[in-house]
Parts: sequence; C-alpha cells; structure tokens
Amino acid sequence: MSTRDNDSNIGWIADELKHLHEAGLYNHIRTIESPMDAWVQIDGRRLLNFCANNYLGLANHPRVREAAKNAIDRMGIGPGAVRSIAGTMTLHEELEEKLARFKRADACITFQSGFTANLGTIPALVGRGDVIFSDELNHASIIDGCRLSRAEVVRYKHNDVDDLRRQIEAVTDYSRRLIITDGVFSMDGDIAPLDRIADVAEEYGIMLMVDDAHGEGVLGEGGRGIVDHFGLHGRVDVEVGTLSKAFGVVGGMVAGKQIIVEWLRQRGRPFLFSSAMTVPDVAACIEAVDILQESTDLVDRLWANADVFRQGIKEMGFDTGHSETPIVPVMLGEAPLAQQFSRQLFEKGVFAMAIGYPTVPQGKARIRVMNSAAHSADDIEQALEIFGEVGRNLNVI
Ligand SMILES: *Cc1c(COP(=O)(O)O)cnc(C)c1O
Repeated sequence: MSTRDNDSNIGWIADELKHLHEAGLYNHIRTIESPMDAWVQIDGRRLLNFCANNYLGLANHPRVREAAKNAIDRMGIGPGAVRSIAGTMTLHEELEEKLARFKRADACITFQSGFTANLGTIPALVGRGDVIFSDELNHASIIDGCRLSRAEVVRYKHNDVDDLRRQIEAVTDYSRRLIITDGVFSMDGDIAPLDRIADVAEEYGIMLMVDDAHGEGVLGEGGRGIVDHFGLHGRVDVEVGTLSKAFGVVGGMVAGKQIIVEWLRQRGRPFLFSSAMTVPDVAACIEAVDILQESTDLVDRLWANADVFRQGIKEMGFDTGHSETPIVPVMLGEAPLAQQFSRQLFEKGVFAMAIGYPTVPQGKARIRVMNSAAHSADDIEQALEIFGEVGRNLNVI
C-alpha cells in the first residue's frame, strides 16, 4: 500500500482497512435511490425491502410528508441553537407533551437521536463510584453511555434475571446503582423480561432504565412501548426511545417520571450542548404520534404481517431462533452461507441483510428480516416464496 510522505501519520488506517477487506469484515454500504418503503430501488432495480426499521411505513407516509412540508412554511427549518439557549420551539414542547400522553408517562424529553438520548441520560444518572448492571447484549449506544459515565459496569447474562440478582448480591461497594436493558433485542427479536427485572429493581432499591428503541411503536397497546406492554407504568424510572425507527423520522426521547425529565433538562449534555431536532423532523414526529393515537391499524398490520412471515418461514423448515417480535432472524450458521443467502435473495428481488460475527456470535450468522406494516399480503407471500427457493438452492431446507 503506497502512502504519500505527508500521509505517513495516517498510514495505519490504510493497513486497518486492508485487514477489514481481507477478513471479509469491510462494511459495504448500499445506496437507496427511492423513498424508504416496502419496496426500494437499488442499482436501478426495485426490491422488496426487509432491512429497514420502518416498522409502520411512516418514513414515507403521505400525512407525515405533508406535516413536514407545512411546518417548514410556518416555522422554517433549523432550530438555530441548543434547546437551553434559544432552540426550544413550541413544536418541540408539543411533541414532548404528545409523546408523554401517548406513552401514558408523566413527562418526556426529546434528543437528537436514540444514540444521544443514551449518551445524555446514563452519565446524568450515575458517575464514578456508582455501578451499572447491564445486559450483555445491550446496544452500542448503551455501552458508550456507560463508559462516558465512568461508573463501574457489571454485565449480566442475557435476559437472565437470576444472574442479575447474583451480580447485584456480589457488588457491595457502591454509591448509586442502575440496571439497564434493551427492551427488544435487535439481532434476535426477543423481549427483555422487564416485569421480573422491575421486581428485582424494587426489591433492591435500584434505578431502572430500559432502551425501547425497537419496541417503540411496536410493543404495547397501539405501539405505546414495552412499559405499556408489561403494564409497568410508574415502575420504570427511565424509558429511552427512538423516533428513528417505527416513528419513521429521526430523534430520541426519554419518557418517565417528571423529576427525571426535569433533571435531564439540567444535566443531559447532548440536550445542553448539541442543537435541537429540526422543524420538519419535529413536525413529522408529531404527525406520526397523532396517527398512532388515532388508531391501532398500522401496529395491528405490522404484527399480522410478522406472524404470517414467521409462521411461513418456520413451516418451510427454517429456524427463527428466539424471535417474538416483528424482527425475525433466519438462522443459517456460518457467515459465508448467510452472505451467499443474502446475495441470492438480492438477485431474486428481496433486500434482506446477512448478519455475522462480530455483530452476533460465531456460528450464529443469519438473515435478519425486518417486517413492516408497509408490506402487502402479496409482498409477504412473494418474499416467502423467494426464501424457499434460495433455501432449497443452498440446501438449508
Ligand atoms: C437503534 C437503536 C438506538 C439508536 O437510535 P437512533 O435514534 O437511530 O440513534 C439506540 N438503542 C437501541 C437499542 C437501538 O436499537
């Protein structure tokens, strides 16, 4: 690899990139040439889309598009400042009030993304001398938020409440304590046992935080999230969510007790030091909440589609692991097989991503299928047929 003399200080990056290519770990990014929807255009071809977190089809919903356009005419684009200086508009407050009401929470605060919601929230709750009990499969943004906090991080076995209890008993030297779990785990589509975790948190007097990015707009009555799913209103201190997945836009939120939201307005660093969500984003999110508040149709259709897909794929003899949500992993074993499977799906008109080590453990490579309310019954049927063809081609079924 040749580097110019004045690039010698960054020559190591070229070496690292070369290693990624050689190990088959280089991330090749596809470009979508159409709106995000049930079908997308890639390299000039139309494909059935099973990759997006656009669970409810809101990313290209006519009402959401219209709301963003109207808001631009009334309020412009940029917020112009961080929230605490001059960036809070009536729109931001309207969104937070509507989200709190929708989720049956006391209060809500929005962030620029789910990622920054975690980076802002965790260090505001714990610091040096404190301890965090964190599920071993928690999302990268939780891991980074924990690191930023400088609290000690104790990992417990995935969804294992007995192990959580053992870890809590083993740590005797601490100041404050916090339990954190994903709500829905994005690679397996399984749900955290939040009811039993809440029991443990109460028994030991520990703060409890759930990151419900994949459950927001999906779980609970009409998509009200994991706290609503388990009927735990008032028993979970912090519910982090995203507006970037089922809500179809971009943004993050924290719903929960009034005092925690008030604290985050004082101490949430991305809230204090990074500009607010833009006008069209906020207006689009408000419309998305209104749509969900009016009817459970989209959420019902999402679950119906996911059930038909999961059932159909199992009947053909595929293994769907622990999936209990619209995230359906089709387990294949080794990463090269999963990649080959994904390529053949792509050739036949289905866009579904292969996921392998290190995102999931060795030998647990899979195609991760993201169902959506945007898919029609015909779309699901067509996808199942193509999965069957590829599965038989590759001797998986
Ligand atoms: C996707 C995801 C996030 C990040 O949300 P963004 O709004 O895209 O930043 C955070 N936590 C979990 C568990 C996620 O799945």
